Amino acid sequence: MKFYNLKDGTQLVDFQTAVRTGLGRDQGLFFPKKIQPLDNIEELLELSVHERNFQLLKPFVASNLNDQQLADIIEKTFAFPAKLVGINKSDEADTEYCLELFHGPTLAFKDFGANFMANCLSSFDLDAESASKKITILTATSGDTGAAVAEAFYGLDNIQVVILFPKGKISDLQQKMFTTLGGNIHTLAVEGSFDDCQQLVKQSFDHPELVEAIGLNSANSINISRLLAQVCYYFDGFSQLPKSKRDQVVIAIPSGNFGNLCAAIIARTLGLPIKRFVAATNVNDTVPRYLQTGDWAPKATIATISNAMDVSKPNNWPRIEYLMESGQFPASDLSGVAVDEIKTAETLKEIYAQGYLSEPHAAVAYCGLKQTLSEDETGIFLGTAHPAKFQETVEEILDMDISLPPELAQCITKQDLSKFIDADFSQLESFLYQL
Ligand SMILES: *Cc1c(COP(=O)(O)O)cnc(C)c1O
Repeated sequence: MKFYNLKDGTQLVDFQTAVRTGLGRDQGLFFPKKIQPLDNIEELLELSVHERNFQLLKPFVASNLNDQQLADIIEKTFAFPAKLVGINKSDEADTEYCLELFHGPTLAFKDFGANFMANCLSSFDLDAESASKKITILTATSGDTGAAVAEAFYGLDNIQVVILFPKGKISDLQQKMFTTLGGNIHTLAVEGSFDDCQQLVKQSFDHPELVEAIGLNSANSINISRLLAQVCYYFDGFSQLPKSKRDQVVIAIPSGNFGNLCAAIIARTLGLPIKRFVAATNVNDTVPRYLQTGDWAPKATIATISNAMDVSKPNNWPRIEYLMESGQFPASDLSGVAVDEIKTAETLKEIYAQGYLSEPHAAVAYCGLKQTLSEDETGIFLGTAHPAKFQETVEEILDMDISLPPELAQCITKQDLSKFIDADFSQLESFLYQL
């Protein structure tokens, strides 16, 4: 399958180029022109996770990866489960489920996409010239991408990783998970917001000399490989639903950069029978407002307790809009809900009262789900991070202690190796050239 540049339809690349370059000309996103619906969904849902993911991903990657390579990548990437958990007290009455995506090494859903991307990059058969070229992965993080990318790329040959994060705006734990590794993982604390960090990444792609000199790439969800890996867990979650509950499925997705929602819509376009989606945001509500008014009017980013969603200019929106405009996904099957801080905290308490411990991002999604779910529907909300990753916030809201998993406990004592820069491209540029 080929991938088009959504800003310049004449640029048409194969999977490998899309993954190795990240962004197309004019900062355009790569995307398939037409997603071919599958006609064997029932069968796919019966397969094992690895077999199913192989079938799902093969059409997208087959021009560059042979069956054995893809099978190996899948085995390495999907080495941890996505678990569908009923959150209502009695099993009988379950109508609401959390799709837990946080059982990977850095305890957030981004482990799926980051691992898939890293495994693809290390599997491509390259000619001598491409193989000798270095790759610099430049990535902005609103909290969780940093850890997932650092973990997935740490120690890989020929790849330098530079992670930008908004100084003082992510939790200590989130920060320590990627700033203490060293080696090929470089971290920069930026005086600014996540949108500023994202802007710096995009600006870097605007400098062809820089791009060429350092082999610039991005591991943000602008990289199509990340989204493709995420498509798989929607099928996985769906297959874990009792058959009697598969008719009227609504999925609520806690959204920031809108990669996860985009992957969900790709899954539906492939034929997964999801009835409709709820895009749930915190008060950074550019998309819910846009869906209501038709006006794209990003405001300044506001810091919230669901900080991985503190994004007001979501990068993946053009892909979702493309799926709507090209008639592959009806806009009427998507609604937006914005959830403020008070409601987020209340919802976290409400879920806990049902016996389920969650965290602020999932609470935003659950709140969005509750507002629209009717009695005959089955609701799934995504658990995008492990509650312990947001320990302080969760402890404060629920007034209880929660313990840290060992992955987190061990990194908290290590030294933060980040350097500081202003939200200023020339400072970033000098840093990149001296790597
Ligand atoms: C990244 C992240 C999100 C937002 O996902 P997008 O794909 O950027 O919309 C939500 N929750 C958590 C915990 C995250 O890390």
